[in-house]
Amino acid sequence: MPDVSEIKAIFPSATDLDELFNIPPSLRRRDIGAIRVVTPKGRSYDNPFQGYSTDRDRFDQYLASEAVSAGAELITSCAFIKAADGLYQTSKGTFRAKVIVGADGPGSRVAREMGLPLPKHPYPAVAAQAKGDFEPVLTMFFGGIAPGAYGWIIPKDGSANVGVGCSPKLADLRPSDYFYRFVETHDLNVTSRISGKYVPAQGPIKPIYDEGAITVGDAAGHVMAVNGGGIPLAMIAGRTAADVLEKHIVKGGPISLYQERLENTIFGPLRSAARTKWLADVFAFGSDFRTEWCMRTLGRRRISKILRCRFPFP
Ligand SMILES: Cc1cc2nc3c(=O)[nH]c(=O)nc-3n(C[C@H](O)[C@H](O)[C@H](O)COP(=O)(O)OP(=O)(O)OC[C@H]3O[C@@H](n4cnc5c(N)ncnc54)[C@H](O)[C@@H]3O)c2cc1C
Repeated sequence: MPDVSEIKAIFPSATDLDELFNIPPSLRRRDIGAIRVVTPKGRSYDNPFQGYSTDRDRFDQYLASEAVSAGAELITSCAFIKAADGLYQTSKGTFRAKVIVGADGPGSRVAREMGLPLPKHPYPAVAAQAKGDFEPVLTMFFGGIAPGAYGWIIPKDGSANVGVGCSPKLADLRPSDYFYRFVETHDLNVTSRISGKYVPAQGPIKPIYDEGAITVGDAAGHVMAVNGGGIPLAMIAGRTAADVLEKHIVKGGPISLYQERLENTIFGPLRSAARTKWLADVFAFGSDFRTEWCMRTLGRRRISKILRCRFPFP
């Protein structure tokens, strides 16, 4: 997770971020002072970056408890199944709703049922926990070790989250094969099961609303294509959705305001990141030689811009 100062730098038009990202210090597992980007031949570029690692399950439980304190009713282990005639069928019964919010990830069933577009060509990524002492630096490894994406080491206290992502177009092996190769190359002592998911990488999609539904977070492609980070975006979009839907339900305000507000806050940087990712797909990925050459040509300053969703040129 980036510190709020970094989130403000990436999304300067987003408002009230201090309040949204006022995360309890107890959820910070390790402070991180830089992102190290490593080329296929091992040259590294250190980019100062303030952030922290956390435990995702505790982090999500904290967000859920904030929602409950604000009046939400929490129902767990409940799968949304189907929408028909204004009724919404779930594994725990059928509900009536004015609007439903699809915050159900890149394969969003809500989006499919409500006829909203889904993120296209998401990237598989797998991760696990590894034991050991690691520097307080988030490291990203590029090249054939993770074709079209990167391998990562995110330090925690006495451990790290380690993983790889890959482009379905460029990968010859299964994501788990790349993962085990990565673990072997970096001599990592993996102590947990590996788990995998898909990461949207095409940039923001539209529309993300209809009269009876909106999509949020990964379901709406709210992920920085240059690094796969989506937690801060899911939070910003989630809060925007709540504001707009409150006005929509109570005062009949337009639901289209949701997409408009995101257009003015997060879509610009997300599009810029998607454009950079497209350039990387065309010019940098596909061979270690090209990746090495492009990264050296970009150098630390431009790489630092890319990490913050800015276009690297001029
Ligand atoms: C390996 C990996 C590492 C990542 N690391 C980072 C990172 O370090 N930093 C970062 O910012 N981002 C990271 N991301 C991206 C980040 O995880 C996502 O962007 C973020 O979780 C999006 O949140 P979300 O709430 O939109 O979706 P999700 O976190 O995917 O949550 C969707 C939820 O919906 C539930 N669901 C699905 N279908 C249904 C249904 N039919 N009915 C009811 N519930 C359903 C799922 O069980 C899940 O709990 C990573 C992604 C991966 C795959």
